[in-house]
Amino acid sequence: MQILRLLLIDDNPDDRALVVRALQREFPALQVEQIGEEAHLARALDAGPWDLVITDYQLHWSDGLQVLHRVRARQPTCPVVMFTATGSEEIAVAAMKAGLNDYVLKSSKHIARLPTAVRLALEQARRLAAVREAEDRYRSLFDGVPVGLFRATLEGAVLDANPALVAMLGYPDQETLIQDGMAAWFAEPGEFERVLARMCGDSPLRAFQVRLRRRDGATLWGEIHARRGPDGAGTLPYLEGSLQDVTRRKQAEARLSHLAHHDGLTDLPNRVLFMDRLEQALGRARLHGRRVALLYLDLDRFKVINDTLTHEAGDRLLRAIARRLEQSARAGDTVARLGGDEFAILLEDLDSQEGIAALAEPLLRTFDAPVPADGSELFVTVSMGISVYPEDGTDALTLLRNADTAMYRAKARGRNHYLFYTADMNAKAFERLSFETSLRRALEREEFVLHYQPQIELASGRVTGVEALLRWRHPEMGLVLPARFVPLLEETGLIVPVGEWVVRTACRARQGWRCNGDGVDLPVAVNLSLRQFIDPGLEARLYEILAETGMTGGGLQLEITETVMQEPERAGRVLETLHEMGILLAVDDFGVGYSSLNHLKRFPIDTLKIDRSFIHGVPTDLQDGAIVTAVVALARSMRLQVVAEGVETEAQLEFLRELSCDCVQGFLTGAPMTESELLALLQAPATTKGSGAT
Ligand code: C2E
Ligand code: MG
Ligand code: MG
Repeated sequence: MQILRLLLIDDNPDDRALVVRALQREFPALQVEQIGEEAHLARALDAGPWDLVITDYQLHWSDGLQVLHRVRARQPTCPVVMFTATGSEEIAVAAMKAGLNDYVLKSSKHIARLPTAVRLALEQARRLAAVREAEDRYRSLFDGVPVGLFRATLEGAVLDANPALVAMLGYPDQETLIQDGMAAWFAEPGEFERVLARMCGDSPLRAFQVRLRRRDGATLWGEIHARRGPDGAGTLPYLEGSLQDVTRRKQAEARLSHLAHHDGLTDLPNRVLFMDRLEQALGRARLHGRRVALLYLDLDRFKVINDTLTHEAGDRLLRAIARRLEQSARAGDTVARLGGDEFAILLEDLDSQEGIAALAEPLLRTFDAPVPADGSELFVTVSMGISVYPEDGTDALTLLRNADTAMYRAKARGRNHYLFYTADMNAKAFERLSFETSLRRALEREEFVLHYQPQIELASGRVTGVEALLRWRHPEMGLVLPARFVPLLEETGLIVPVGEWVVRTACRARQGWRCNGDGVDLPVAVNLSLRQFIDPGLEARLYEILAETGMTGGGLQLEITETVMQEPERAGRVLETLHEMGILLAVDDFGVGYSSLNHLKRFPIDTLKIDRSFIHGVPTDLQDGAIVTAVVALARSMRLQVVAEGVETEAQLEFLRELSCDCVQGFLTGAPMTESELLALLQAPATTKGSGAT
């Protein structure tokens, strides 16, 4: 049974007894504190809270209205019932207006209503307490959440705003925020009206992302959720909503979107963004009848360059190239990295091909200056293909494909060029593709063969060496020469396995000639690409092949080019190892590269092969003659053997004989031939054409 704590105030003890009696039956758990004198009232109020106060109106020291105020001051929700004499009924009504719960007339007839009045008062108090509690909870939530909350009129006058909102928008206090109104929150002109119109619409909760302005002028991204408040009876329609600072989220989104649309290495737009911009540019060009050009750039021989550099240096090089392209493009043109060493540039607002060429030309020229790489400088060239809307395609993919095709043609033309796309290029591009595919299969299909070209010692007229030269027996094209496919082997890296096959085949053949009892004991020379030379497995593989064919190193000569020596440290190490294995080393195409004579001295080289472009000019071209003379003298002074390549005429031979050049190799003394042709030649008596010793 619930205890009811009653504070009963009446200066007449009989009346108090009357009250207690009247209530006791209905409220058996009644605990009554009776106050007759003012002196006791304060203490009694301190002893609260009370469940109920019943007070007489006419006290000799006060009146019921005053008591009501004193009680409520201490305990705002405490129910108070007044007990009055008939004459003070009007006063009691006034007290009701002041918040009194009920009153009962002080007569034996009316006292019977007292329990009902008390019950009603208690019930009323309970309801009030519940409402207050709900209100308190709402308030504490409203004030405490870290999300901005507001209520506003449909016109945007702020009715209420919580502290989080005040802080988020940088107001000193709630009042200022309310004064300034909602319109002051929005950074973009017109945004407030737009948002308000949409918030007042009748669908439930709406979310908007808007630029907000703090009171100090700073802007932030906010997300508003708002709706019309429920239309309660008697309340005006209003808006209620929340406002969150989503600036960080927006920034993160922007970062993500940047990452998704830019290349991590160069920070240029990537393929996705480039294609998007291209689509947009095409849309504009369609509308205004303008041209759009797509420049597709690819670094020449990047694979080879990249393989000789460290990973970081390769990255630095790409970044430097990206900056250079950006600087030389017009403001507003899109420069993108499509992947690897492929870049693309989008040019808009063009009206003629000449205009495009005028932009493409300087782009290529920016590569005339060397690019810093790894402490030294590298000369980089690019090949460029150009396709133009609407002539070469009306959609982005076709334009890209055609520019790519044109770029490949530019490369095939000898690199460092640009070419406009033409319709017949596609057929050629297809050719190249099938060529590359069949080249990839050539090794396993055993389509490669070696031809051998004899080297003749001038003094004796005897064959003193042979050079193995690679040929590809293409099922449809017939015998294909290395100039057509070796660059592709190098680019694709296939040169490594194919080169291994060349060395093994040449060594086996050479051993075969010896074992045949033919008494032929010639070193066989094999060409080595830079790509093979820098392959870390080179030495081990050569060692294996020598062991497997039972050959000593002296039976094999490797022909390297001067480019190998551009990196003297590494070249020195590798060449030293090969030399220790007994392998002979020749510098091929000597004179066309940049080898410094210093390097030559440092490396264990045995032979210099003078490039045939110099031999071609002698004896008539004086400059060529001077160069050949100097090289022969140089070789002699360094105790190197010297071979003249590409000897085609008697006059050339005579010139070389006079210089006392050691050996010649050329069509005159024997073009590259099959193995059996070579054996026949070797077994015939030494009647070599032009040999003075026979
Ligand atoms: P190279 O090493 O300088 O080979 C000499 C080239 O000159 C050969 O061309 C040969 O046929 C040609 N030649 C020889 N005598 C004469 C002449 O009197 N006049 C003219 N005009 N040319 C002559 P080929 O066989 O077409 O090879 C071209 C290049 O391909 C070679 O130049 C070499 O750099 C490369 N190569 C050939 N075989 C291989 C190989 O197995 N591996 C690698 N990595 N490269 C190879
Ligand atoms: Mg050679
Ligand atoms: Mg050569």
